[in-house]
Amino acid sequence: MSGTSGTSGTSGTSGGAFLGMPSFPEAAAVSTQDRQLRANLSHATRTIREKRARAVAELADWAELRAAGKAIKDHTLRHLDHYLLQLEAAVTTAGGTVHWAADAAEANRIVADLVLATGEREVVKVKSMATQEIGLNEALAAEGITAYETDLAELIVQLGDDRPSHILVPAIHRNRREIREIFAERMADWGRPAPEGLTDSPAQLAEAARLHLREKFLRAKVAVSGANFMVAETGTLVVVESEGNGRMCLTLPQTLISVVGIEKVVPSWRDLEVFLQTLPRSSTAERMNPYTSLWTGTSDGDGPSAFHLVLLDNGRTTALADQVGRQALRCIRCSACLNVCPVYERAGGHAYGSVYPGPIGAILTPQLRGTASEIDASLPYASSLCGACYEVCPVAIDIPEVLVHLRERVAGQGGHRLERAAVKAAGFVLDHPGVLAAGERAAAKARRLLPRRLPGPGGAWTDSRDLPDLPTEPFRDWWQKNRPQQDS
Ligand code: SF4
Repeated sequence: MSGTSGTSGTSGTSGGAFLGMPSFPEAAAVSTQDRQLRANLSHATRTIREKRARAVAELADWAELRAAGKAIKDHTLRHLDHYLLQLEAAVTTAGGTVHWAADAAEANRIVADLVLATGEREVVKVKSMATQEIGLNEALAAEGITAYETDLAELIVQLGDDRPSHILVPAIHRNRREIREIFAERMADWGRPAPEGLTDSPAQLAEAARLHLREKFLRAKVAVSGANFMVAETGTLVVVESEGNGRMCLTLPQTLISVVGIEKVVPSWRDLEVFLQTLPRSSTAERMNPYTSLWTGTSDGDGPSAFHLVLLDNGRTTALADQVGRQALRCIRCSACLNVCPVYERAGGHAYGSVYPGPIGAILTPQLRGTASEIDASLPYASSLCGACYEVCPVAIDIPEVLVHLRERVAGQGGHRLERAAVKAAGFVLDHPGVLAAGERAAAKARRLLPRRLPGPGGAWTDSRDLPDLPTEPFRDWWQKNRPQQDS
């Protein structure tokens, strides 16, 4: 159940924070016990992972494309003010209207007012992470406006009163049987019911969704989208997707409102060319996306007659000010880092308490929302730092580097006092080799008496880790006895 490459949105969020979410370790302790979830995730991520590796291997210049993507994003971020103003001028010249939103509340207010001004009370949505980040569906509902998700996976999530758990495949945690049940039970509440006798064959499920959504496409007067990219030189927005629902939303309604993070701008079409090669291969393992929709303002007699672009900050300029953390803004939402992450595969996306799960979520969410809450402070620790995410990232975001950087920030604000004390003690011991050697010998002698679980608050650390067995003698003693003669 795949959809738009990381543009996206749905239910169950408020301002980007999933309501009532516990910290990552607490949520993961529950989700890792869910055998069905782990089986669904393991199967899906392995399949996507293998397909992606084959698609990437086809390109001899993948490394160069990756380096180019990184360089383009870094250049654009360094001159973001310039390119955003260029984009605004180009969109305005092409007949669109640009709105600037500092935060989620402002963006939601702008969109709600624009919809209300049309007199409509329904909108169709193209999958858009930015709108989900700001909790747009809930904000519109509070104004009496119903937002219909049209991406297949987002539809499953919306009908199931669920939350997305993957950037690209928001319903990755559902299998076909569960999807059939959701369709059969809930479609009638939102419009056209599921056909009688619906089975869980992919063709029947897709047909049920198609029939259900088609009446919404044909009725809608207003659409809300995100965008994968915005080209500054011409004011062109780009949405890539696999199902065609995006094309319907972007062309049929009279009014189109696009909510897009400010980091999505690229300077030129030449720059766009790089990402149109790396994004599909890295996300859906396709050589190019089945649907690549591009629009520039409005055109008489063709597509929406009114176009509004809401440029969203919502923490991005704060992230931009951080010299290490800003690389997270390079992200093109391909989701490759999720599919290779051993932590994501076992814990699932919901445990991250954010629209952005997995490794990218662990570095992006704490920068966009801050690290004051328990869930946000726990996210930089939701990683083994194995580095697989960095290896696959098509824009070379060094996620482990940012994770460590954010851990320092969390520790610095007193969030993990014990960790700070432990690091300080370790620093002292490593600075004094005599103390270290004495400690090693004492530990080797007492190895049978050492507990498998640390006492007191340290127990929380060993609850999720095995303490390694201690050797019968320290390495330095072994080396003294066994080192080759010529070294002595
Ligand atoms: S961090 Fe890199 S790999 Fe992960 S979603 Fe973003 S672009 Fe893709």
